[in-house]
Amino acid sequence: MSASDEELLLQLALKQRQARRSGRTLIITVAAAVACAVVGWAVLFQLRPLIKSIPLLPLGSVTTALLWIGIVAFAAAALLVAGGWAFARPGKPWGKEMPGVCPRCENLTLREALVEVEKRDGAGLNVGPKGIVILCDTRRCEYTSVKVTTRTRA
Ligand SMILES: [Zn+2]
Repeated sequence: MSASDEELLLQLALKQRQARRSGRTLIITVAAAVACAVVGWAVLFQLRPLIKSIPLLPLGSVTTALLWIGIVAFAAAALLVAGGWAFARPGKPWGKEMPGVCPRCENLTLREALVEVEKRDGAGLNVGPKGIVILCDTRRCEYTSVKVTTRTRA
């Protein structure tokens, strides 16, 4: 038996919120950026001078290629940092604030977001469910509410 649309949407929303809270996306992005920067540094400041220092070898085009590889690696690192900052800033909470008190804990901590489950049919069209998920942001309060706006199309 497959999960209902409500369950699918709720699971995805909880996963999204968890990712925001842990900042895992940002950590991965930063790790990738550091790797790119290290590659760029190694190519530009270690490998290139080494090859240049070898006498009597016509390696002009190789050192030029290495220069470009280094520059591209640095550019990729900068882009990853900029992208990570824009999309995965830690502390940026899931969803948007929703007016009203939580029916379970009575705090003003409800948040809602439109969630869309990705599910492709044979023709590559997205047939997954879509809906509005409401989560309570208070610790230990597990209030959730799902309103399916588009059901899974079989
Ligand atoms: Zn609550």
